[in-house]
Amino acid sequence: MTEKNTNTDETAHLRRRAEKIVRGKALQSAEDLETLSPEEARRMLHKLRVHQIEWEMQNEELRRAQTELDAVRARYFELYDIAPVGYCTLSAKEVILEANCTAATLLGVARNALTKQPMTRYIVTEDLAGYYRHRKLLLETGEPQTCELRIRRLDGTQFWAQLQATVAQDTEDTPVSFVTLHDISERRQIEEALRNATTELVRSNEELEQFVYVASHDLLEPLRAVSGYISLLEEHLHDQLDAEALHLLNGAIDGAKRMQLLITDLLALSHVGSQGKAFVTIDIGAVLEQVKRSLCVSIQESGVRITHDPLPRLSADAGQLVELFQNLINNAIKFRGDDTPAVHIGVQRQQDQWCFAVHDNGIGIEPQYYQRIFLIFQRLHTRTQYPGTGIGLAICKKIVERHGGTMWIDSSPGDGSTFFFTIPDKGRATI
Ligand code: ADP
Repeated sequence: MTEKNTNTDETAHLRRRAEKIVRGKALQSAEDLETLSPEEARRMLHKLRVHQIEWEMQNEELRRAQTELDAVRARYFELYDIAPVGYCTLSAKEVILEANCTAATLLGVARNALTKQPMTRYIVTEDLAGYYRHRKLLLETGEPQTCELRIRRLDGTQFWAQLQATVAQDTEDTPVSFVTLHDISERRQIEEALRNATTELVRSNEELEQFVYVASHDLLEPLRAVSGYISLLEEHLHDQLDAEALHLLNGAIDGAKRMQLLITDLLALSHVGSQGKAFVTIDIGAVLEQVKRSLCVSIQESGVRITHDPLPRLSADAGQLVELFQNLINNAIKFRGDDTPAVHIGVQRQQDQWCFAVHDNGIGIEPQYYQRIFLIFQRLHTRTQYPGTGIGLAICKKIVERHGGTMWIDSSPGDGSTFFFTIPDKGRATI
């Protein structure tokens, strides 16, 4: 039965009831009327007119409210239809009870052809299991659920969609769900491209690391031979050569030594990713002791004072943390200012990580070089001013990143530098 028929029946039914009441009252009123004085009759007539006008006004009000309601309803349906997402109402048995125009366009079907269709008809077979899991969860928990799956249009083309569903009861207390459909193909494509690019990046990075390792390793052998032969030459011919020739020969020896140093550092850099050890709980205090033993000569020569906050135990690659602290303390000594060098190692617990701050009282760095110094071969001074290869901080950064942390610097010329780095550690904070 249509909505219009129902309304007509109800109106006829109301009319019959009203007539019956009026007929009953009319009989009574006829008897009453005979006893009314003309004055009373006039008053009653006046009352009746007031009532009539009142009803007419109420009627007018109702008609206006109805028109407004119709306009709101029409606007709602218009918005519902042109909404940028598809809307569907589904029965508990996956049947589409209602859908907006956007849903019909997304599914590539005429809107009226959608109703009474099972939703599963439009879902790609491989994604059906996921869809059923999502529906089961929705109906069992009553909580809103989201899933991503592929939709197959009527013409066979497919797209990635995000379904967001909520559940409610209809007038007969059976569950219905309201589902929004978003076309997320573009986002999925970007994600896929990003995934591929990351995989490719990891692969080429590994390849590059391998290349650096092999190249450095293979270069080291002939270089040792060259350097050895030049040294022998210098020994044999020392007395026969003039000062100029000796100077040239020493230049060649220096060059070979420097190249050896560069290659060894390059090898160390390539080892961070490829030769790292598993993380175990280590004591940073013990790490620092080991660093002090390795640097004992320069510590003694420079008279550096090394102080520290209470140091924690944390999960890390012990060898790499030794390398990290050693590079930083070594730099603090190397790039010292006029005062006796002093290094302080501060540490703070921040949620799931430790934040270290290695502070020195050295020459400091201009802010415009804060990023550059972490790049390989980037140095701010000549080799005659300060020896080095420009790889130390690149190694430090790589070690920190291998541990899942970040590294940065705060410094100003003449005021010393503070190198910060974080090491994530999910374990209990222990110092
Ligand atoms: P290297 O020490 O071999 O030059 P690094 O990668 O360790 O290479 O450092 C890069 C550059 O950063 C250094 O050449 C220096 O200019 C600057 N630098 C590093 N540590 C400090 C420091 N503690 N104080 C001032 N400058 C520093």
